[in-house]
Amino acid sequence: METYDALLASITPDTGETRTILDPATGEPVGEAPVHSVEDLEAAIAAAAAAQPAWAALGHDARSAALLKAADAVERSAEELARLLSREQGKPLNGPNARFEVGACAAWLRVAAGTPLEAEVVVDDGETRAELHYRPIGVVGAIGPWNWPMMITVWQVAPALRMGNAVVVKPSEYTPLSVLALAKVLNEELPEGLLTVVSGGRDVGARLAEHPAIGKVMFTGSTATGKAIIKSSADTVKRLTLELGGNDAGIVLPDADPKAIAEGLFWGAFINTGQTCAALKRLYVHDSLYEAVCEELTKVAAATPMGNGLDEANVLGPLQNRQQYDIVAGLVDAARDSGARILLGGNPATDQPGHFYPATLVADIDNSNPLVAEEQFGPALPIIRYGTVDEAVAMANALDVGLGASVWSSDPVRAREVAARLEAGTVWINKHGAVDPRVPFGGAKQSGYGLEFGVEGLKALGVPQVING
Ligand code: NAD
Repeated sequence: METYDALLASITPDTGETRTILDPATGEPVGEAPVHSVEDLEAAIAAAAAAQPAWAALGHDARSAALLKAADAVERSAEELARLLSREQGKPLNGPNARFEVGACAAWLRVAAGTPLEAEVVVDDGETRAELHYRPIGVVGAIGPWNWPMMITVWQVAPALRMGNAVVVKPSEYTPLSVLALAKVLNEELPEGLLTVVSGGRDVGARLAEHPAIGKVMFTGSTATGKAIIKSSADTVKRLTLELGGNDAGIVLPDADPKAIAEGLFWGAFINTGQTCAALKRLYVHDSLYEAVCEELTKVAAATPMGNGLDEANVLGPLQNRQQYDIVAGLVDAARDSGARILLGGNPATDQPGHFYPATLVADIDNSNPLVAEEQFGPALPIIRYGTVDEAVAMANALDVGLGASVWSSDPVRAREVAARLEAGTVWINKHGAVDPRVPFGGAKQSGYGLEFGVEGLKALGVPQVING
C-alpha cells in the first residue's frame, strides 16, 4: 500500500520529455506523463520478446497464480488508483465510476486467472485423434481509449498474460497516468519486461500496429482508428481483436412500466457521463408510453448530482476533454435548432472551469438527426417515438455499427423475440451495458470483430494448434 503522492511520484519520469496532464474538472495539473518515442517502443518490444519465453514456460497454473497476486496488488492500492483515475479521467470516485472501475480491474484479473482452458478432443474415432490446443502468440500490443482506461487495459492484458504472452500497452494520450499507475501496481507481481506501457502519441500506436515483432493487436477505440489498424496490420498478417465505436439502441416495448425502468434506462445511457462504448445512445419509445418515459427519465436525471469527481456526493463528472465536449455541445445545439424538444440540460455553464456538460434529454427528435445517427459519446440522450415494433427494429438496425442494444419490457418472452431481431453483439433485456468477465463481449457490423472475456476471450489471445495423430 502506498500513498497517492508516492504512486504518482513512482510513475513521474526523472528525465526526458514530459507532458502536463490537466484535471478535466478544474483545469489544474494532475501530473507529468512521459512522452515516449518510437525508440522507446522498440526497447519495450525487445524487453517483452526477451521475457516472454520464460513466462510461457511457467504454464497456466503459475501464470494464473501471478494474476491472482496482481489482483490483490490492485486491491491494496485501490483507493490511490481510483483517486488518480478520477483526477485524470474526470469520473467521480462514487457511482459506477472510478472505484467501480478499479474493482472491475481486480475482478477481470481473477476471472482471467480462473477460467479453465482445456485442450478439446475434436475427433477420436479409433483411427484419428485430433486435439485443439492454444499456444501463446508471443508479444501482444494493447492500444486503448480514454473513457475506461484502467479497466480496458486489464481487459486486454489479463487474458494475454494468462495465455503466456508478453504485452506492450499504448494508452490514450488523454489518460496515460492511469494506465502507467495501473501497470506499476501489476508489475509488483510480474517478471521484468513482460508488461510495459509506452506513453506516446498516435505515431507510437501506428508503429505498434505494424511492428513485425507484434503478433496480435488488441484495440479498443474509434471505428476510424480501427480501420487504420486493419490496414497497418496487413503486411505482417497480425491477429486483431477490434472493439470499436457503437451507437446502441434501446427499445421500450408498449408493455413496459416507465417508473420501474427509468433508473435502469438512465444509467444505461449516462454511465461514465455517457462516455461508454456500450452505453444506450438512442432510445426508441412506443407512442403509448412516450410522455410517461420522458417524464420518469427527467425525474431521475434531474436528481443525479454532477461535479468534481473527488467530491463524494457526485456520480456524474465532466467530459474528459474539450474535443469531446465540443462534439456533444454541437450535436445538442443542432438538435435544438432542428426543432427537437430539450426536456432537460442542453445549457452548459460557460463561467466555470472544467468540461462539464449537463445531463441532457432530447425528445421529439427525428431518427435521421445527427444526435441520433452519430455516436455522441456524452451525456445527451435522444428519445425517438415509434408506432410499431417493426418500425423500431428497423430504426435500431439502420446504422452500420452494432455493439450493444437493449429491449425493455414486462414480458420476457416478447423481449427475447425482439432481442433476436437486433443486429448487435450483445442485446440486454431490462438493462443496458452490463458487462461480465465470464460472458463474451464483442461487436457486430463496424463495431469490430473478435470476442473478449470468458473462455472465448482467452482463446483469442492464443494461436490455435491442432495435434492430429
Ligand atoms: P481513438 O480511436 O481516437 O484512440 C484510441 C487509441 O488509438 C489511442 O491510444 C490512440 O493514440 C490510438 N491511435 C490513434 N491513431 C492510431 C493509429 N493510426 N494506429 C494505432 N493506434 C492509433 O479512440 P478514443 O477517442 O480514445 O476512444 C473513444 C472511442 O472508443 C469511441 O468510439 C468508443 O465507442 C470506442 N470504445 C469502444 C469500446 C468497445 O469495447 N467496443 C470500448 C471503449 C471505447
